[in-house]
Amino acid sequence: MEKREELYRGKAKTVYLTDDSDKLVLYFRNDTSAFDGEKIEQLDRKGEVNNKFNHFIMTKLEEAGIATQLESLISDTESVVKKLDMIPVECVVRNVAAGSLVRRLGVEEGKLLDPPLFEFFLKNDALHDPMVNDYHIESFGWATKAQVARMKELTFAVNDVLKALFDQGGMILVDYKLEFGVDSDGNIILGDEFTPDGCRLWDKATRNKMDKDRFRQGLGSVVETYIEVADRLGLKL
Ligand code: ADP
Ligand code: UDP
Repeated sequence: MEKREELYRGKAKTVYLTDDSDKLVLYFRNDTSAFDGEKIEQLDRKGEVNNKFNHFIMTKLEEAGIATQLESLISDTESVVKKLDMIPVECVVRNVAAGSLVRRLGVEEGKLLDPPLFEFFLKNDALHDPMVNDYHIESFGWATKAQVARMKELTFAVNDVLKALFDQGGMILVDYKLEFGVDSDGNIILGDEFTPDGCRLWDKATRNKMDKDRFRQGLGSVVETYIEVADRLGLKL
């Protein structure tokens, strides 16, 4: 596997083409961003921690029968993944009220959401990732009705697997964001990443925040806390 030219530089990762047209390299940088890229800082070891954490979680999801982009870890900060044609929406599931839901609807942070909520957001920093629904996605041709249904089904399947996994580590999976893409055979596959940058995790006993809210809210010990999350799941970083 040979790394070739840069395809795309996002806020936290750089994507490279490879000599295999079906595979990409994801390079996890130390860059950490919040508020649609308005706040950006480099945090020591964050790239390595997120690369290894993502590989660990994607492996768990594969073991549970969920199709992911997962191929292999090739260095501390890089993974090979399947090249996907990404669908430009974020799929969010919420088990507990927090973040933009609390700001939008004025509900109390920490309210249990039963059944869990599902929301779509358009990936567009300039527009601050507006919330969209199934009809926007189909009308604008971002995905078909069947693909929308599949993304929802897979996002909830991930919830079942990861809620239980984090619970065993004494954590509550409050909410998370997933991105899906289409592979060369037309299948919907989980892409991008699952790390504490893209979910909310609270300690079950103290309700301490163990995710990127530590960075958003200036609480400190960001990477150290991500390492503790990994440690509680049995991953030594
Ligand atoms: P952003 O684009 O939101 O700033 P990142 O810095 O994480 O985010 O950049 C990673 C980019 O790579 C994202 O645009 C994501 O949609 C894309 N991507 C992630 N996984 C894959 C994949 N398997 N195939 C193609 N593109 C991917
Ligand atoms: N999220 C993300 N990327 C985004 C927007 C949200 O990873 O561009 C994650 C976020 O970390 C949280 C969940 O999706 O776990 C729900 O985010 P929310 O809508 O509450 O927005 P926020 O308050 O994080 O802006």
